[in-house]
Amino acid sequence: MGAKTGKEYKERLKKARNNVYANGQRIEDVTIHSAFKNVVNSMAKLYDLQYEKPDKMLYQSPTTGRQVGMTFKHPTTIDDLINRREAIQAWARSSQGMMGRSPDYLNAQVMAMGMNNDLFAESDPQFAQNIRDYYEYARENDISLTHTLIHPQINRAKALHEQKDATVPLHLVEENADGIIVNGIRLLATQGAITEETFVFPSTIKKAGERDDPYSLAFVVPNNAPGIKHISREPWDYKDNKWDYPLSSRFEEGDTVVSFDNVFVPWEKVFICGNSSICNRAFLETNAVVHMSHQVVAKAIVKTEFILGIALNIMDAIGIDQFQHVQDKGRDIMITLETMKSHLYRAEHNAKLDRYGTMNPDFAALDAARNWYPRIYPDLVEIIRILAASGLTSIPTEADFEHEEIGPILERGLQGKNINGYERVQLFRLAWDLTASAFGARQTHYEYYFFGDPIRMGMTYFEKFDKEPYKQQVQDFLKETRKYS
Ligand SMILES: Cc1cc2nc3c(=O)[nH]c(=O)nc-3n(C[C@H](O)[C@H](O)[C@H](O)COP(=O)(O)OP(=O)(O)OC[C@H]3O[C@@H](n4cnc5c(N)ncnc54)[C@H](O)[C@@H]3O)c2cc1C
Repeated sequence: MGAKTGKEYKERLKKARNNVYANGQRIEDVTIHSAFKNVVNSMAKLYDLQYEKPDKMLYQSPTTGRQVGMTFKHPTTIDDLINRREAIQAWARSSQGMMGRSPDYLNAQVMAMGMNNDLFAESDPQFAQNIRDYYEYARENDISLTHTLIHPQINRAKALHEQKDATVPLHLVEENADGIIVNGIRLLATQGAITEETFVFPSTIKKAGERDDPYSLAFVVPNNAPGIKHISREPWDYKDNKWDYPLSSRFEEGDTVVSFDNVFVPWEKVFICGNSSICNRAFLETNAVVHMSHQVVAKAIVKTEFILGIALNIMDAIGIDQFQHVQDKGRDIMITLETMKSHLYRAEHNAKLDRYGTMNPDFAALDAARNWYPRIYPDLVEIIRILAASGLTSIPTEADFEHEEIGPILERGLQGKNINGYERVQLFRLAWDLTASAFGARQTHYEYYFFGDPIRMGMTYFEKFDKEPYKQQVQDFLKETRKYS
């Protein structure tokens, strides 16, 4: 098989008839349903891009010799890392960074865990083999994945086994000769409706104790497995008009609540079974978090470039670029962009080989970037909002411009400095879809939360940071003038 095309992606989704629900209905075919067909087409474009730019997007499988996706590549040199990143950014450019869960995000996780997997062998060597095999299977078949890391928000003050109904969060029901049976609910599967399989893994940051072992699982299941349901939040692709909805009519990935009703998972697809200790270390010790952060930072750069472009176009459109605070706001986006690029450069050029032969980017650089960007992203959105002012809401639709009577009024009344009304409103609709539409609001929310709660990520960052040299630097300075201690 090898890397798939967009056509193959759609055919597989059509054939799978995954268990997807939205707006109170079971969706028979996501490839043609109005809520999902546009984003399915955007995903298909990503897969097609693999064959449009094979030098950048494909490489030869080390096991079968087939052409497989570059974002699955196990990096053993810095050049490999750069090649991976160039493929990641080529995909990101296709959506201007709006598809957070383009396949490269989970391909990075699967690759890292598949190649750095001693941890999984701690409870059974077969689990390490399983994740290795899954990496090969996913790579050779170009499987599109969603993932669910967190448990439902019932009572965060209590552990899972202490919840008032401790059977709600996904848990192990039974182990038998063939596999495991699981039951319960998991959140939150971005692209759950439009992917082939669900990767169930522990949270990247929330840690569990031994009494939560029954909830401590990692496995993968097809999205049409008996008993699994992907229940979508309301889809926000409202109208199939790319002028009116430049982003939401293309890149609305969707998020699903995932329900498991006694779902059977064969042993070969189980990676962690009832082991909180392994779960707590899964992302760090496999370096999955490092390679996922590499994808995240590479994608964030593309998105920041796009946001900068929108800001600069707004300045031109309404002649505000000479005002000091406007320039200062443009500068803020520019500095964010340059800072993120510096993090990426340092990460790639300080990369080191680990004992598995994996070339890992410098995590210190990526960890700083992935902790910083979620906090700064809302400021970028705020800048667009402030620059656009009334322009963000004086945004009639394309149909209004086409109307015989009101079209000419809008064309004249909403013209910009050097552009006509139709072009100016199109630009401002883009700014609105980035910042203020349901899609835009979710983008801001996504950037803040998708990698985990930034507050707890920040606490972990502080705890793990090597603080001693800096404390010592000050102590040494003070010591020089101390008469006694
Ligand atoms: C748009 C979007 C897309 C997402 N996509 C995915 C996906 O594809 N796959 C996936 O698995 N997950 C996904 N997530 C989920 C994401 O991983 C979580 O939102 C994130 O980990 C935070 O967890 P939570 O939402 O359960 O927040 P909670 O843990 O419920 O936190 C709620 C609030 O309480 C505070 N809080 C709770 N507990 C503590 C504590 N112990 N100490 C300090 N403060 C605390 C938090 O700081 C936060 O303010 C997505 C989230 C969003 C918003």
